[in-house]
Formats: sequence, structure tokens, C-alpha cells
Amino acid sequence: MTVLVTGGAGYIGSHAVLALLEAEYTVLVLDNLVNSSRESLSRVERLAGRQLTFIEGDIRDRQLLDKLFAEHAIEAVMHFAGLKAVGESVAEPLAYYANNVGGSVTLFQAMADAGVRRLVFSSSATVYGEPECMPLSEAAPTARASNPYGQSKLMVEEVLKDLARADARWSIALLRYFNPVGAHASGEIGEDPQGPPNNLMPYIAQVAVGKREKLSVFGGDYATRDGTGVRDYIHVVDLVEGHLRALEVLKHCTGAHAWNLGTGRGYSVLEMVAAFEAISGKRVPYTLQARREGDVAECWADPAKARKELDWQARRGLEEMMADTWRWQSKNPDGY
Ligand code: NAD
Ligand code: UDP
Repeated sequence: MTVLVTGGAGYIGSHAVLALLEAEYTVLVLDNLVNSSRESLSRVERLAGRQLTFIEGDIRDRQLLDKLFAEHAIEAVMHFAGLKAVGESVAEPLAYYANNVGGSVTLFQAMADAGVRRLVFSSSATVYGEPECMPLSEAAPTARASNPYGQSKLMVEEVLKDLARADARWSIALLRYFNPVGAHASGEIGEDPQGPPNNLMPYIAQVAVGKREKLSVFGGDYATRDGTGVRDYIHVVDLVEGHLRALEVLKHCTGAHAWNLGTGRGYSVLEMVAAFEAISGKRVPYTLQARREGDVAECWADPAKARKELDWQARRGLEEMMADTWRWQSKNPDGY
């Protein structure tokens, strides 16, 4: 079976491509390399011992998409392509809506015209807005996000729900990621942010490897066990296993289905720092700073729906997340 993976050269996409190749899928990657490099896919090919087809191009290029669907027997799409920096999305909302919403709609139109109606979409726990009670199940209401990035995820979910209502032949997974971290156990592929990392885990790793002086902890006065923000961190390899399960399940069901991909456990920022120090043997100096705008105090998943319907659950614990992050970062201090 042939799967088109958009954004397959990126952090999560590259791990998904590896898992797909290992599971004997034929893989086509479409990526414009705006936030990634071709090197990630060369390493994926080496690890898998199999080849993929790479097309450098943009999901907003309708002609290119039509050509891909015409030339390859694509049966499903995993759609990772998009821009993901929250702060940048506030400064450049049009770029975010054009890429993440416009690009997605163009992709779905090309799929519809080609008769390809099986889709796994990278959504996010950000669609829950500023939730009141934890853990978050898929039944929790979605809400306007505090930034255009989050809003673009919510908008694409709405587009896909309308699409599934309008045409019952579509099979769609809306995978709501909590906080993906970690790297493949080989240390060959991992997260390679361009410029200063926006997310906690790559920032910690870059401090440990000596690329950044210290971590700024955003907020020490939340109503949490140590005052710092609590999140549900999930190992990227567990996350992509959830994608492969969703792809299987979509073969036998139609409609648009939301599934949380999280562990169901929350850790604070300081717990993450301590766990990383323990595994790496490196010190991670930090200073407490003001809260970051738009952050919630706590967020973790109720993963029961995915466990029941996808027969999937996260298996890798905090130590493995830390050890794999450190292996990737220390083997590749400057990324790819
Ligand atoms: P990433 O930036 O590493 O990967 C995204 C890939 O898409 C990159 O390789 C980039 O070059 C490509 N891309 C961007 N715009 C494109 C376009 N118009 N056409 C073709 N390719 C394009 O990000 P990631 O962390 O791997 O995230 C993958 C997906 O998961 C994104 O949609 C992201 O919003 C979503 N997500 C990520 C997280 C997270 O914490 N990493 C959390 C929730 C959801
Ligand atoms: N965080 C932090 N310093 C950083 C980056 C993040 O203290 O440099 C905190 C942030 O406030 C949140 C947690 O780490 O409590 C996870 O943030 P991240 O940006 O990784 O993911 P988010 O949950 O915001 O998507």
C-alpha cells in the first residue's frame, strides 16, 4: 500500500516515514524543506534498509499534487506539513493560515478529485483551548485558540468534520498530539529546530550540550505541585505507532474521528529538567521567568479512546524520552 506523507522530512514525519517503511508500506514524501533537510530522509532510508520517493514541493501546489496522485497508486495520506511556531504565527498570521489552512484545503481537494479519501491529520491538544478540568477526553469542547497556529489546527479539524459529513466515503483521523518529545533510539533522527527552540525539550537538550547558556522556566507560580507548568510528554516513537494504528483502523471505518495521543501522565517543567539531568549527567541551569502568554497551567490527556478504538497506548516512559533525546542531541550537536 502506498502512503503519501506530507511534511515527511520534519521531526514527527521522519519518524513516521521510518515506521511506515519498516511496516512494508511504499512511501512518497512531499516536503518543501522550509523547516527540515533531505538528510533526515537519507538517514531514515539507511535505518529502514529501504528506499522512499522524495518530492521537494509544496502542498499549496495543486498541479504538483494532481501529478503525484495521477502517477502513483496512493491509497492514504498522512498530513504533517505545516508551520508550527506559536510566536511566529502571532506575528505572521497570513503565512500560517495560507500554509496550514489553505495548503490543507488544497491537499484535500486534490485527494477528493483523485478519489483518495483516507487521511491521518496532525492535530493538537491546542484545539481544547484553555481547559478547566483534567484529564482531557475527546468529548471536551474545543475552543478558540490563543494564537493563529492553534487556530489553524482547529479550523482544519472543522473543515475535515464538514467534509466527512458531506461525503460519507471519507475516513479521517484527527490525531490530537499532546507534547511529542524524544527521538529514535538509534540517535540518527530527531528534532532539529532552526534557531532558538520554542519548545521545552529541545531547549533543555541544547543547554545540556552547551549551545545555550540556560533555560528560562516560564512561570513558577502556577497552582501545580512545584509551581511550574505541567504537560503530557509523549515519546515520538509511541506517537507514530498511534498513526500506524489509525491508518489500519481507517481501512474499516468512515467518518472523522478525533483521538488523543498522550500518555495520561503530566510532568512539570522542573521534573523534566531533573529527569534530563539524571539521565545525561549534565547540569541544566535555569532561571524562573514570568509566565509565557497563552500557556495553561496543566494539560494532560485521557488516552482511553485511543486505547479502546486504536488498540494503542504509549509504552515509553520518561527515562526513555530523556535518554533518546540526549543520544540524538549529543551525537548531532548541530542537528543534521
Ligand atoms: P516540523 O516543522 O519538523 O515538520 C513539518 C514539515 O512540514 C517540515 O519538514 C516542513 O519543511 C514541512 N512543510 C511546512 N510547510 C510546508 C508546505 N507548505 N508544503 C510542504 N511541506 C511543508 O514539525 P513537526 O514537529 O514534525 O510537526 C508535524 C506536524 O505535527 C505539524 O503539522 C505540527 O503542527 C503538528 N504538531 C506538532 C507538535 C509538536 O510539538 N511537534 C504538536 C502538535 C501538533
Ligand atoms: N517552557 C519553559 N521554557 C521554555 C519552553 C517551554 O518553561 O523555554 C514550558 C512551558 O511554559 C510549558 C512547558 O514548558 O509549561 C511545555 O512547553 P512547550 O512549548 O514545549 O509545549 P506547549 O505545551 O506549550 O505546546
